[in-house]
Amino acid sequence: MSRSGFAAVDVIAAKRDRQVLSDAEIDWAVAAYTRGEFADEQMSALLMAILLNGMSPGETARWTAAMIESGIRLDLSQVGRPTVDKHSTGGVGDKMSLPLAPLVAACGAAVPQLSGRGLGHTGGTLDKMESIPGWTAVLSPAAMIRQLSDVGAVICAASEDLAPADRKLYALRDVTATVESIPMIAASIMSKKIAEGTDALVLDVKVGSGAFMKSVERAAELAEAMVDLGWAHGVRVSALLTDMSVPLGVAVGNAMEVAEAVDVLAGGGPADVVALTLALAAEMVSLAGLDVDPEEVLASGAAMDTWRSMVAAQGGEPDFVLPTPRERHIVVADSAGVVSRLDALKVGVASWRLGAGRARKEDRVQAAAGILCLAKPGDTVSAGTPLFELHTDTPERLPEALADLADAIEISAGTDAAGTDAVTVPDLIIDVLRR
Ligand code: URA
Repeated sequence: MSRSGFAAVDVIAAKRDRQVLSDAEIDWAVAAYTRGEFADEQMSALLMAILLNGMSPGETARWTAAMIESGIRLDLSQVGRPTVDKHSTGGVGDKMSLPLAPLVAACGAAVPQLSGRGLGHTGGTLDKMESIPGWTAVLSPAAMIRQLSDVGAVICAASEDLAPADRKLYALRDVTATVESIPMIAASIMSKKIAEGTDALVLDVKVGSGAFMKSVERAAELAEAMVDLGWAHGVRVSALLTDMSVPLGVAVGNAMEVAEAVDVLAGGGPADVVALTLALAAEMVSLAGLDVDPEEVLASGAAMDTWRSMVAAQGGEPDFVLPTPRERHIVVADSAGVVSRLDALKVGVASWRLGAGRARKEDRVQAAAGILCLAKPGDTVSAGTPLFELHTDTPERLPEALADLADAIEISAGTDAAGTDAVTVPDLIIDVLRR
């Protein structure tokens, strides 16, 4: 029994027996675990009981509040513009933060993008940005606020004192097969975003093989839980459910994704990346209360100017030269037809194997490693048409990546026996959730 009057074993038993935990029990469990007074093995049992028996919306809200309370909450009121952020649940080729932050800043908002590094097959925004020579992810809260006021956007690492309970709990969930609990994912993401101090937030909840959420139903459940948590804490939140069965854009891998984001800012780039950039930007601008058309702002070149200022403010050279790989390898189609499937998960895993991702959090990523997806679903190819271009500094990793890619793509006749189009390209935006 602790000095507070609670015993970890009673809290675990209550959740095991499907009871609703009281606010005081939740506050104590999260705070005691953060202080090291609730043992890892006991929190593991509680997390498994939560995964199996769930939490009510009230319990999830209190758990989120307790995680926010475990650290500092930034005050962005001095920034002088409405603040709005975007959070993606993670995907393959998801470089959306890079064009989005400067674009929304150029529309008049301030974008505090506190980002993470990749683990496993999904990339991390900081890993991508660190491909830019000299660019630093680490800023003090004061420097971050200054950049938000001066430039309008910042992409940087979250400080250690932002929701420290989540940092500890996430590491434990990762090794106890309890990450998948929807209340826990919602509380984890939203505690960090609420503590960041943004006025508004757009969630990009990914659905499909390359995403955490494989079904639209689970993605919608997660989106709803996160939108509710945001509004309950005074943050205006909406969510887009977007496809992650296919990689986003052409480039998968850190430096290559930076190059693709710069193409979008320059007025080019793959159609799906441009479309999602504009859809997310429109939602962000609207939540920020601004009456501006992001498409016009992108076309004006103002977003590119903001991007260059963002890079320079964090030590990068705006006319940077990105690293190139030691080895390139092209995979071609062995038959003619229409690309009917391109599996995001398999492309993500192949890119990770080439060195773009890490297996343990202390691993270094190769900036130049990754894959260009040269043919996407719906594209017509001939025998010999390039499908993938693989980049790596460690060519000994090519065979494993090639094995993953062999299963990643399917080429079909394109029409069925009746001659009708048999290839369906998934919709990029599946649903939008607004309060
Ligand atoms: N991302 C997070 O920050 N937390 C989760 O629990 C899952 C994804």
